[in-house]
Formats: sequence, C-alpha cells, structure tokens
Amino acid sequence: MNWEQVPNHVDGKDVPAASGEWLDKFRPADASLLTQLARSGPADVDAAVAAAHRAQPGWADRTVVSRGDLCREIALALRSQREELSELVAAETGKSIDAARGETDAAIEMGFFTAGEGRRYYGRTTTASMEHRTVLTMRQPLGVAGLLISFNTPLPNVAWKVFPAILCGNACVLKPSEHTPASAHAFATTCREAGLPDGVLNVVQGLGSEAGAALVEHPDVDLVSFTGSAATGRRINETAGRRLAKVCLELGGKNALVVCDDAALDNAVRWALASAFSNAGQRCAAASRIVVFDPVYDEFRSRFLAEAREYDPGPVISEEALARLVEAGAERIDRPGYWVEPTVLEGIAPDAELSCRELFGPITILYPVGDLDEAVSLVNDSPYGLTAAIHTASIHRAMRFAEQAQAGVVVVNGGTHGSEPHMGFGGVKQSGTGWREAGVEALDVYSDWKYVNLIADPAKA
Ligand code: NAD
Repeated sequence: MNWEQVPNHVDGKDVPAASGEWLDKFRPADASLLTQLARSGPADVDAAVAAAHRAQPGWADRTVVSRGDLCREIALALRSQREELSELVAAETGKSIDAARGETDAAIEMGFFTAGEGRRYYGRTTTASMEHRTVLTMRQPLGVAGLLISFNTPLPNVAWKVFPAILCGNACVLKPSEHTPASAHAFATTCREAGLPDGVLNVVQGLGSEAGAALVEHPDVDLVSFTGSAATGRRINETAGRRLAKVCLELGGKNALVVCDDAALDNAVRWALASAFSNAGQRCAAASRIVVFDPVYDEFRSRFLAEAREYDPGPVISEEALARLVEAGAERIDRPGYWVEPTVLEGIAPDAELSCRELFGPITILYPVGDLDEAVSLVNDSPYGLTAAIHTASIHRAMRFAEQAQAGVVVVNGGTHGSEPHMGFGGVKQSGTGWREAGVEALDVYSDWKYVNLIADPAKA
C-alpha cells in the first residue's frame, strides 16, 4: 500500500476524489506530514452509494451464515496484519504502539463475535388469536448504510459498524475521520482481499462538512450510523430526519467517577488516572468529572495530583484540538506535535459551562460532595449520560448508584470505560439516540424486524 496518498475505495477499486484534490494529514506526535487523503465531495459519495446499491441485493441473497463466515475470514486477515495495522494507528493518532495493538485486537474480536452471530441470528415464534396460524419473526437488511465515525479509536470504530452492518446484509459507505484515513483504508483493503464482494464496503475520505454531509443527505442511504460529537450528531439528525432515514447516533460524554469515603483509595486513584487521561482523554467514556466525598477529598486530591504530574497521556489529534484545550485551561507542552499537560481543575461550579461541555482531552475536574445523594445529583446534572463509575466498599451504595446514575454503562470499583464486543454500548440523554452498538443489540441497528404470518390450513382459517 502506498501511504503517501490515501484514496477512496469504491466498488473494490482505489480511486482519487473527483476533484483531484488532497488534504494533508499530520502525525500528532511531531506534526510532520504523514500522508494525504482524497478530498471527496458529492460526486464521490454518489459513486460510492451507487456501488453499494448495486452490490447490496446479491450480498443480502447469501445466507447469514456465509456472511458470518466472511466476517471470520476478515478477522483472521486483520489478525495476520496486526503489527502493520497497529503501527499505522500509532502513527495516525500518536498513541503508543501497545495501545494501538490493544485496539487492533478489539477490532479483530468484534469480527469474531459478529461471525458467531451468523449462526444465531435468532428470531421468535409466537401464537396468534386465529387458529392454524403461526407467527415468526425474521431480520431483514436495511439496504445502504452510511457509516460516519470519530478518530479516537479508529479501527474499533470501523469494526463496530462495518461487521454488524455487513452481517445483516447491508452494503456500506464509510466516511472515516479526516484525522484517521489510513487505518480505514487498510481495513477496506483487508476486507476485499479476504473476499468481500466489490461494492459491499466503500470508503469515501474527506472532510465532514463535504464528504460527510453529502453522505448524510444522500436519498439512497437507508441508515445513517454516526459516532462523534453531539454538535455534529444534532446536525445529522436534522438532515437525515427530514427524509425519515433511520439514524443511530453514538455521541459524547461528560462521565463522572465517584470516590466514596469507604473506597480503596489506591484503586480509585489508579482508575481515575486511566479514566481521565488514557488516550489523551479523547474517549467518549473519559472521566472528565471526578466526584469525591469530603472526608477523603484532600488525601485523594494529593495522591491524584502527584500521579497526574507523572502521567504521559500522549498527544491529542490535531493543532485545532490542542487550541481548544488550551482555551479550556490546559497547558501546551513545548515540543513538536500536539502535546498538552494532563490538567486537573478545581473550584468549578457543577453547572458552569466547563462542567457541562465535553472537552475531549486530558482535562478533568474535581468536585467535593457530602454524601451519596449529593454525588448522584451531581452525576446526573449533565446534558450527557454515557458512563459512570463509583468506588465504594458498600454493596448498598453501589446498587443505589447503579440504579440511579443516568448512564448507559455503570462500573463499580473500576474506570469509566467502553465495552467488549458482546456488550451493548451507548448512552442516554445527549450521549445518543437510544441505540446500542456492539453486542447483539447492534443487530437492531443494522436490520429491521419482519413479522411473518403462516396460515397452515387456509380452509379452516
Ligand atoms: P466529530 O463530530 O467532529 O466528527 C465525527 C465524524 O463526523 C468525522 O468523520 C467527521 O468528519 C464527520 N463530520 C463532521 N461534520 C459533519 C457534518 N456536518 N456532516 C457529516 N459528517 C460530519 O467528532 P470527533 O471529533 O471525530 O470525535 C469526538 C466525538 O466523538 C466526541 O464527542 C466523543 O465523545 C464522540 N465519540 C462517541 C463514541 C460513542 O460510542 N458514544 C465513541 C467515540 C467517540
């Protein structure tokens, strides 16, 4: 593969954008030029959607078992390229090679999990009030799926959407983040080499406002599945909603981690650090609010600050992202690339703008609270509701928190984190529109239910 330029991938072929233009992509670690990506627009999206439209019926005609088998072949092919893929992700994002390997593994696992679903794909049978009638359900594909994703964990972000979308018999047009074009292109190339028919997975590179907007507006895109910020999600929902397309939005978070006065503090500090700063805080599940009971506040604070000073979160994705973080109070590190110090803020009111806005960087805010009720109301006093964590030795506190925290995922005595391939992931309030990705729940995003009525003896019915 030539990494000097990342083209589009349409109908099984690598093609430049119709405009002939390219965008520069810089390495976050040192701001040097990594590659260029095709600057696509409506003409490229048209070509990709048309290719998907042509390929989809033939793909859907295969059995779901055979589509699952191909997901397994793709996962095996990804595994054989684990090292190259991880190096690509490390270069594109600036994260460590170990972190990139973990993400490559997560993308591969999603393929294996989805492959197994090809041999389950269960429906239901039920009775009816009319005699001699059996009713059963079956899933049907939606058609062409428009997939738009964030840069933060690029390979899992692709895998979480592409594997269930193709298993369910859809053809896809993927618009990766302009910050991570190469890993998406490598994924599509691997799919083609593993035997995925031309046109089932197309990749259109470019900017959100150009390629992304054109994909969301396209009348032949039956499903828009988006992972990114609430601001972009809102715009996408308005556009796709106008033509009543199915829309699945997985959005941001302002996740809280609560440290009670009976918490094991070593464990709480360890998880708070990883939750706030790993992946440079560029995680939808990042703990950007840390809520600490008064009696342990000072001790937690001094340990947390001491370890935060030593923490290396890695660079953030771009100069623009860095500028936004500096505006919010982070300090730029004086070296080439997009590096900021891990930042801990205090004395910010829970309803202040900084407490409510997702910053998507290595910045977290500490809040003291008197008791669990106060902690829960602070946790829930947020426009978002993706994940939440509590550190406590009390089962009672843990269960009350699990019941009352407004979130899609709750963790007891661990970090605020995402999920594994078999666990549905998503949030409430402005963290999404109620869908869950991964797990068998993802099948509900990428298929529709059909009820089939069988009347076995028409003469008697
Ligand atoms: P973003 O919203 O800026 O961009 C996401 C994608 O949308 C990119 O591919 C971008 O090019 C595209 N886009 C931008 N404007 C568009 C438009 N007008 N029309 C169509 N597409 C457009 O988000 P980001 O900075 O890439 O990612 C960070 C956000 O993603 C954070 O809010 C984070 O919490 C969220 N996120 C959520 C999850 C989840 O599962 N809930 C997972 C990862 C990231």
